[in-house]
Amino acid sequence: MSKINLRTTGDLLLAAQDLVLCCHVSPDGDTLGSALGLKLFLESHGKKVTMLVDDKLDKSFSFLPGSAGIVCPREGESYPTELLVVIDASSWDRIGLVADVVKPRHILNIDHHISNTEFAEYLYLDTKAAAVGEIMCDLFLEMGWAYTPEIALDFYTAISTDCGSFRYTNTTSKTMRRAGDLLDYGVNPMIISDNLDMKTRATAELFAKVLPTLTFEKEGRIAYISLSNDLYDENVSTEPFVYYPRYTEGVDVAIFFKAVEPAVTRVSMRSSKTDVAAIALSFGGGGHIRAAGCTINAPLEEARAQLLAALGKVM
Ligand code: AMP
Ligand code: MN
Ligand code: MN
Repeated sequence: MSKINLRTTGDLLLAAQDLVLCCHVSPDGDTLGSALGLKLFLESHGKKVTMLVDDKLDKSFSFLPGSAGIVCPREGESYPTELLVVIDASSWDRIGLVADVVKPRHILNIDHHISNTEFAEYLYLDTKAAAVGEIMCDLFLEMGWAYTPEIALDFYTAISTDCGSFRYTNTTSKTMRRAGDLLDYGVNPMIISDNLDMKTRATAELFAKVLPTLTFEKEGRIAYISLSNDLYDENVSTEPFVYYPRYTEGVDVAIFFKAVEPAVTRVSMRSSKTDVAAIALSFGGGGHIRAAGCTINAPLEEARAQLLAALGKVM
């Protein structure tokens, strides 16, 4: 593994003629926007670029330029390529089935997670960047690459998603400057509220069923909500749910437990003080200090008990 700088990252991308870009599973605006903007740029330079995402895309992302060209790989397929670029994923298992189907000669990982496992041959890691979208802008500046309005929209979405529309502590003056540059290419910030902040009626109705599970522990410093497996629907986004307990007075750690299978529970954590990345890592997951997640191979109640016990030890 070698840690490389921006210039080497740009040179590696330019040297390849045939690339596969991939996102992490449960893709968010950062992994998608960063990969899509890069894809559009590389294609305009005559390169063959395939973008692989092992997941269903929420339809709220369909406004992202280039998203119609995203490929969902199937078991048994094979994608030989000169360079695989893994975007916003901190470990090899975060790309799901892509890990099995891609046959790369070289692997480049562009990431900003503190939990990065250094799995790739080449790594560009900037844990101070609020989003990989911000790294993409650093890269374009360093290389003198030009934005198009489409690329600017993809990168703006990437940045805005990961810093909670410039409200989270990971937002720096550079984050805002990079996003500010993108506005000069015609991005309308309202695109975020009109697309990503908009929830479907199904999501609102599901939230109404999940909210009664709201529970406080540790004198209200922990708050969690749970979605039992009988309510789980892979077609209904639950992305905003964890923010309800997160923004409740006195809460440090907010958790959303989602039973995606009878004995598999997805955990999302947000915090104001506690290092939830460390907790997530101890369950084989990862993330950032104030936003992290993991998947526990246990039914809802058991997963919840395990996680709360681990959390209780550090709080
Ligand atoms: P989420 O709660 O799914 O929005 O995830 C919060 C943060 O934790 C994001 O940066 C994710 O990329 C990261 N994360 C979530 N689940 C995992 C996991 N199983 N392994 C590694 N990182 C994760
Ligand atoms: Mn992400
Ligand atoms: Mn990210």
